[in-house]
Amino acid sequence: HPMVMSYADAVLGHREVGKRVAVIGAGGIGFDVTEFLTVDDSPTLNLKEWEQEWGVTDDLDTPGFLTRPRPTPAVREVYMVQRKTGKQGKGLGKTTGWVHRATVKMKGVEQISGAVYDRIDDAGLHITVHDKEGNETGKRILEVDNVVVCAGQESVRDLVDPLTEAGVITHVIGGADLASELDAKRAIRQGTEVAAGLP
Ligand SMILES: Cc1cc2nc3c(=O)[nH]c(=O)nc-3n(C[C@H](O)[C@H](O)[C@H](O)COP(=O)(O)OP(=O)(O)OC[C@H]3O[C@@H](n4cnc5c(N)ncnc54)[C@H](O)[C@@H]3O)c2cc1C
Repeated sequence: HPMVMSYADAVLGHREVGKRVAVIGAGGIGFDVTEFLTVDDSPTLNLKEWEQEWGVTDDLDTPGFLTRPRPTPAVREVYMVQRKTGKQGKGLGKTTGWVHRATVKMKGVEQISGAVYDRIDDAGLHITVHDKEGNETGKRILEVDNVVVCAGQESVRDLVDPLTEAGVITHVIGGADLASELDAKRAIRQGTEVAAGLP
Protein backbone atom coordinates (compact mmCIF):
# COMPACT_ATOMS: atom_id res chain seq x y z
CA HIS A 1 0.00 0.00 0.00
CA PRO A 2 1.39 3.47 -0.89
CA MET A 3 1.02 4.73 2.68
CA VAL A 4 3.69 2.29 3.90
CA MET A 5 7.33 3.31 4.05
CA SER A 6 10.57 2.15 5.62
CA TYR A 7 12.09 4.01 8.56
CA ALA A 8 15.00 4.97 6.33
CA ASP A 9 12.68 6.77 3.89
CA ALA A 10 11.01 8.55 6.80
CA VAL A 11 14.13 9.79 8.57
CA LEU A 12 16.09 10.64 5.43
CA GLY A 13 13.16 12.73 4.18
CA HIS A 14 12.83 10.69 0.97
CA ARG A 15 9.09 10.66 1.57
CA GLU A 16 6.81 13.10 3.30
CA VAL A 17 5.20 11.73 6.47
CA GLY A 18 1.59 12.72 7.19
CA LYS A 19 0.16 14.07 10.42
CA ARG A 20 -1.14 10.71 11.66
CA VAL A 21 1.36 7.88 11.69
CA ALA A 22 1.55 4.30 12.88
CA VAL A 23 5.05 3.07 13.66
CA ILE A 24 5.33 -0.71 13.42
CA GLY A 25 7.95 -2.08 15.78
CA ALA A 26 8.83 -0.73 19.22
CA GLY A 27 12.49 -1.70 19.40
CA GLY A 28 15.37 0.76 19.42
CA ILE A 29 14.66 1.98 15.91
CA GLY A 30 10.91 2.24 16.59
CA PHE A 31 11.53 4.47 19.61
CA ASP A 32 14.06 6.68 17.80
CA VAL A 33 11.80 7.08 14.77
CA THR A 34 8.74 7.79 16.92
CA GLU A 35 10.62 10.52 18.77
CA PHE A 36 11.79 11.92 15.45
CA LEU A 37 8.23 12.02 14.10
CA THR A 38 6.80 13.86 17.12
CA VAL A 39 9.03 16.93 16.67
CA ASP A 40 9.96 19.42 13.97
CA ASP A 41 13.36 20.01 15.54
CA SER A 42 14.91 18.05 18.36
CA PRO A 43 14.61 19.87 21.71
CA THR A 44 18.16 18.73 22.42
CA LEU A 45 19.20 21.48 19.98
CA ASN A 46 17.36 24.17 21.94
CA LEU A 47 18.35 24.51 25.61
CA LYS A 48 15.31 26.55 26.70
CA GLU A 49 12.86 24.14 25.06
CA TRP A 50 14.72 21.15 26.47
CA GLU A 51 14.62 22.62 29.99
CA GLN A 52 10.89 23.27 29.71
CA GLU A 53 10.28 19.81 28.33
CA TRP A 54 12.03 18.06 31.22
CA GLY A 55 11.16 20.55 33.94
CA VAL A 56 14.62 21.73 34.83
CA THR A 57 15.98 25.24 35.16
CA ASP A 58 19.27 26.99 35.78
CA ASP A 59 17.51 29.58 37.97
CA LEU A 60 19.46 29.63 41.24
CA ASP A 61 16.35 30.54 43.28
CA THR A 62 14.42 27.42 42.23
CA PRO A 63 14.77 24.60 44.76
CA GLY A 64 16.42 21.56 43.22
CA PHE A 65 16.44 23.39 39.87
CA LEU A 66 13.20 21.56 39.14
CA THR A 67 10.09 23.06 37.58
CA ARG A 68 6.90 21.56 36.18
CA PRO A 69 7.66 19.80 32.87
CA ARG A 70 5.92 21.49 29.95
CA PRO A 71 6.61 19.34 26.91
CA THR A 72 6.03 20.85 23.49
CA PRO A 73 3.01 19.04 22.01
CA ALA A 74 3.78 16.44 19.37
CA VAL A 75 3.60 17.71 15.79
CA ARG A 76 2.08 14.41 14.70
CA GLU A 77 -0.34 11.92 16.18
CA VAL A 78 1.77 8.79 16.46
CA TYR A 79 0.87 5.22 17.37
CA MET A 80 3.60 2.77 18.28
CA VAL A 81 2.55 -0.79 17.62
CA GLN A 82 4.30 -4.05 18.37
CA ARG A 83 3.45 -7.73 18.07
CA LYS A 84 4.95 -8.64 21.43
CA THR A 85 2.62 -8.29 24.42
CA GLY A 86 3.66 -6.32 27.48
CA LYS A 87 5.32 -2.98 28.09
CA GLN A 88 7.19 -1.45 25.19
CA GLY A 89 10.86 -0.59 25.36
CA LYS A 90 11.85 -3.13 28.00
CA GLY A 91 14.88 -4.15 25.96
CA LEU A 92 16.24 -0.63 25.45
CA GLY A 93 19.68 0.24 26.81
CA LYS A 94 20.04 0.52 30.59
CA THR A 95 21.34 4.08 30.71
CA THR A 96 19.11 5.72 28.11
CA GLY A 97 16.06 3.44 27.84
CA TRP A 98 14.13 5.40 30.46
CA VAL A 99 14.67 8.61 28.48
CA HIS A 100 13.14 7.09 25.34
CA ARG A 101 10.22 5.60 27.27
CA ALA A 102 9.57 8.95 29.03
CA THR A 103 9.84 10.92 25.79
CA VAL A 104 7.22 8.98 23.85
CA LYS A 105 4.95 9.13 26.90
CA MET A 106 5.24 12.90 27.28
CA LYS A 107 4.57 13.33 23.56
CA GLY A 108 1.27 11.51 23.98
CA VAL A 109 2.17 8.60 21.74
CA GLU A 110 -0.34 5.76 22.03
CA GLN A 111 1.53 2.50 22.57
CA ILE A 112 -0.21 -0.69 21.53
CA SER A 113 1.31 -4.09 22.30
CA GLY A 114 0.10 -7.56 21.39
CA ALA A 115 -1.04 -6.47 17.93
CA VAL A 116 -1.64 -8.79 15.02
CA TYR A 117 -1.49 -6.87 11.76
CA ASP A 118 -4.60 -7.74 9.75
CA ARG A 119 -4.28 -5.43 6.78
CA ILE A 120 -3.52 -1.95 5.54
CA ASP A 121 -5.95 -0.15 3.29
CA ASP A 122 -7.13 3.40 2.63
CA ALA A 123 -8.90 3.44 6.01
CA GLY A 124 -5.64 2.80 7.83
CA LEU A 125 -3.90 0.02 9.74
CA HIS A 126 -6.22 -2.77 10.85
CA ILE A 127 -5.07 -4.66 13.92
CA THR A 128 -6.31 -7.26 16.37
CA VAL A 129 -5.11 -6.59 19.90
CA HIS A 130 -4.24 -9.21 22.53
CA ASP A 131 -3.62 -8.98 26.26
CA LYS A 132 -0.56 -10.30 28.11
CA GLU A 133 -2.01 -13.81 28.19
CA GLY A 134 -2.52 -13.74 24.45
CA ASN A 135 -6.32 -13.44 24.56
CA GLU A 136 -7.92 -11.29 21.91
CA THR A 137 -9.22 -8.02 23.38
CA GLY A 138 -10.59 -6.41 20.24
CA LYS A 139 -10.07 -5.12 16.76
CA ARG A 140 -9.03 -1.59 15.88
CA ILE A 141 -8.48 0.52 12.83
CA LEU A 142 -5.75 3.09 13.31
CA GLU A 143 -6.75 5.90 10.97
CA VAL A 144 -3.37 7.07 9.78
CA ASP A 145 -1.84 8.72 6.73
CA ASN A 146 1.32 6.64 6.87
CA VAL A 147 2.69 3.43 8.30
CA VAL A 148 6.41 3.48 9.03
CA VAL A 149 8.00 0.05 9.33
CA CYS A 150 10.67 -0.26 12.04
CA ALA A 151 10.71 -4.05 12.15
CA GLY A 152 12.22 -6.91 10.23
CA GLN A 153 15.48 -5.23 9.27
CA GLU A 154 17.48 -7.28 6.82
CA SER A 155 21.19 -7.32 6.18
CA VAL A 156 22.48 -5.57 3.08
CA ARG A 157 25.14 -7.97 1.84
CA ASP A 158 24.77 -7.93 -1.90
CA LEU A 159 28.49 -7.18 -2.36
CA VAL A 160 29.63 -10.43 -0.73
CA ASP A 161 28.86 -12.89 -3.52
CA PRO A 162 30.21 -10.85 -6.45
CA LEU A 163 33.39 -10.04 -4.51
CA THR A 164 33.87 -13.66 -3.47
CA GLU A 165 33.32 -14.81 -7.05
CA ALA A 166 35.88 -12.23 -8.19
CA GLY A 167 38.38 -13.85 -5.83
CA VAL A 168 38.38 -11.09 -3.22
CA ILE A 169 38.52 -12.30 0.38
CA THR A 170 35.57 -10.76 2.24
CA HIS A 171 34.77 -10.47 5.92
CA VAL A 172 31.14 -9.88 6.83
CA ILE A 173 30.69 -7.86 10.03
CA GLY A 174 28.18 -5.71 11.89
CA GLY A 175 24.78 -5.09 10.39
CA ALA A 176 25.70 -7.05 7.27
CA ASP A 177 26.40 -10.05 9.49
CA LEU A 178 23.32 -9.73 11.72
CA ALA A 179 20.68 -7.01 11.36
CA SER A 180 18.16 -8.29 13.85
CA GLU A 181 19.59 -6.43 16.83
CA LEU A 182 20.95 -2.97 17.44
CA ASP A 183 24.49 -3.49 18.51
CA ALA A 184 27.05 -1.04 17.28
CA LYS A 185 29.49 -2.41 19.86
CA ARG A 186 29.45 -5.83 18.17
CA ALA A 187 30.01 -4.20 14.78
CA ILE A 188 32.99 -2.27 16.13
CA ARG A 189 34.41 -5.36 17.86
CA GLN A 190 34.06 -7.46 14.71
CA GLY A 191 35.66 -4.75 12.59
CA THR A 192 38.52 -4.34 15.02
CA GLU A 193 39.12 -8.09 15.19
CA VAL A 194 39.12 -8.43 11.41
CA ALA A 195 41.52 -5.50 11.08
CA ALA A 196 43.83 -6.90 13.77
CA GLY A 197 43.89 -10.29 12.05
CA LEU A 198 44.85 -9.00 8.61
CA PRO A 199 48.30 -10.08 7.49
C1 LIG B 1 17.55 4.46 14.08
C2 LIG B 1 18.68 3.56 14.57
C3 LIG B 1 19.09 3.67 15.90
C4 LIG B 1 20.10 2.86 16.37
N1 LIG B 1 20.47 3.00 17.68
C5 LIG B 1 21.47 2.23 18.18
C6 LIG B 1 21.87 2.35 19.54
O1 LIG B 1 21.32 3.16 20.28
N2 LIG B 1 22.87 1.55 19.99
C7 LIG B 1 23.50 0.64 19.17
O2 LIG B 1 24.41 -0.06 19.63
N3 LIG B 1 23.14 0.51 17.87
C8 LIG B 1 22.15 1.28 17.35
N4 LIG B 1 21.77 1.14 16.05
C9 LIG B 1 22.43 0.09 15.24
C10 LIG B 1 23.75 0.55 14.71
O3 LIG B 1 23.55 1.74 13.95
C11 LIG B 1 24.32 -0.58 13.84
O4 LIG B 1 24.45 -1.75 14.62
C12 LIG B 1 25.68 -0.21 13.31
O5 LIG B 1 25.61 1.02 12.61
C13 LIG B 1 26.20 -1.30 12.38
O6 LIG B 1 27.44 -0.88 11.87
P1 LIG B 1 27.96 -1.34 10.47
O7 LIG B 1 29.28 -0.69 10.28
O8 LIG B 1 27.86 -2.82 10.37
O9 LIG B 1 26.89 -0.79 9.42
P2 LIG B 1 26.52 0.70 9.02
O10 LIG B 1 26.78 1.65 10.14
O11 LIG B 1 25.15 0.61 8.42
O12 LIG B 1 27.59 1.02 7.88
C14 LIG B 1 27.54 0.40 6.61
C15 LIG B 1 28.06 1.43 5.60
O13 LIG B 1 28.26 0.79 4.36
C16 LIG B 1 27.79 1.62 3.35
N5 LIG B 1 27.47 0.78 2.18
C17 LIG B 1 26.46 -0.12 2.02
N6 LIG B 1 26.53 -0.70 0.81
C18 LIG B 1 27.61 -0.18 0.18
C19 LIG B 1 28.21 -0.38 -1.10
N7 LIG B 1 27.71 -1.23 -1.96
N8 LIG B 1 29.29 0.35 -1.40
C20 LIG B 1 29.82 1.24 -0.51
N9 LIG B 1 29.30 1.48 0.71
C21 LIG B 1 28.21 0.77 1.06
C22 LIG B 1 26.57 2.30 3.95
O14 LIG B 1 26.25 3.48 3.25
C23 LIG B 1 27.05 2.57 5.37
O15 LIG B 1 27.72 3.79 5.49
C24 LIG B 1 20.75 1.93 15.52
C25 LIG B 1 20.34 1.83 14.19
C26 LIG B 1 19.32 2.64 13.72
C27 LIG B 1 18.89 2.52 12.27
